[in-house]
Amino acid sequence: MDQPPQPSVSPTTQSWVFGANDPSLGLPLQHLPYCAFTHPDTGQSHLGAVIGACVLDLHACSTSGLFSNLPAIAVATQAPILNPLMALGTQAWSALRTELQTLLRTGNHLPPDSRKKAEAALLPTRDLIFLKPVDIPNYTDFYASIHHATRVGRLFRPDQPLLPNYKHLPIGYHGRASSIIPSGTPIRRPWGQSRPTTPQSPPNFSPTTALDYELELALYIGQSNPLGTPIPIDQAASHLFGASLLNDWSARDLQFWESQPLGPFLSKSFATSISPWITPMSALAPFSTSIAKRSNADPELLDYLCSNEDQISGTVNVLLEVFLLTPTMRTSGMPPHRLSTSNPADLYWTPAQLIAHHTSNGCNLQIGDILATGTISGPTESSAGCLLELTRGGALPFTLPNGETRTYLADGDEILLRGSCERPGHPRIALGECRAAILPARARAL
Ligand code: CA
Repeated sequence: MDQPPQPSVSPTTQSWVFGANDPSLGLPLQHLPYCAFTHPDTGQSHLGAVIGACVLDLHACSTSGLFSNLPAIAVATQAPILNPLMALGTQAWSALRTELQTLLRTGNHLPPDSRKKAEAALLPTRDLIFLKPVDIPNYTDFYASIHHATRVGRLFRPDQPLLPNYKHLPIGYHGRASSIIPSGTPIRRPWGQSRPTTPQSPPNFSPTTALDYELELALYIGQSNPLGTPIPIDQAASHLFGASLLNDWSARDLQFWESQPLGPFLSKSFATSISPWITPMSALAPFSTSIAKRSNADPELLDYLCSNEDQISGTVNVLLEVFLLTPTMRTSGMPPHRLSTSNPADLYWTPAQLIAHHTSNGCNLQIGDILATGTISGPTESSAGCLLELTRGGALPFTLPNGETRTYLADGDEILLRGSCERPGHPRIALGECRAAILPARARAL
């Protein structure tokens, strides 16, 4: 088998692209998240790689012959979505990344013609409309944060917040892929059934009064497995293409009424937002870290979920932040208010464990599938990844700096998710922002 190409850049290598070396943007040569956007001149959907204040138009690079030594990649980058590139596999992913880093690095000694073609393919990010970059066949949502599971469980079962299975397997369910939308698309407050007010009355059918967000990471499957063939935990990483932020919008009143015994359904399927840029796993590699240590009282993992290497470096250290911007704050020019911070390093289960468990029965993952972590919360009150936790099930309103109060989201409220990685000796990287505002419910449901 061919050896994968060696990385062409060190952590200190800089880029000639405007803004690439500005740590506040978090988009250096070492990051290069992929995206899809509407070309401002032609209206066509193109793939791009984000660097500094610009997007490198991969379709334009391919058309101008910059990828002529990589024929399969030259074809895949003409597509409007990332799935054909994902299908080429890990060596092709590295080859394209190396090619882009060579093209965009300072002092690359390229022929003047190549530099001119690259410059011509750069577009200012601020002028672009971003699209969903992947055709997502399936969406699975897990429940990998023990802090989230414990706090939510405590609301309903104070004596036994965690169910007996939690520490044995990553709990998950099949979500709805068709309603996954890119950041910036507004969310219409959904109608639905909620618990009857009294035992004698019928269920309510009305717009949700408990609209919530869930701060999650989306993990994109880049390589499939045949039906009937589990993915061993030590091979799971090679199936992962990249990660983005994900907001799993949740209508809690609908969820509490409908979720027994089969789990959430319409309380989640009305919309799920994703940030429009996918950070390659290789860009996250310098920030890999160990999963939160299991207590000695925790049960031993079954073999198929156990890998020493995965326990040592199987998750990633990302500062995750949730912000709220209300219409009143927006009108008065106030900045979004930070509600919480958390980190996937505090999860109980790693991405590789999610993949190994998901496929342990032979289930076939498909190229473009999203495996979401579930709400990422930390051990402290200020690290709760959703309002259900922050307000203890809607019982404790919180007050914003301008005096407004909330338990759940009001019409016009906007939720912003951000994520960034820092480590001494490495340039900072910032994941694409995931934001969306709430639109009022339809006047009538039907
Ligand atoms: Ca969720």
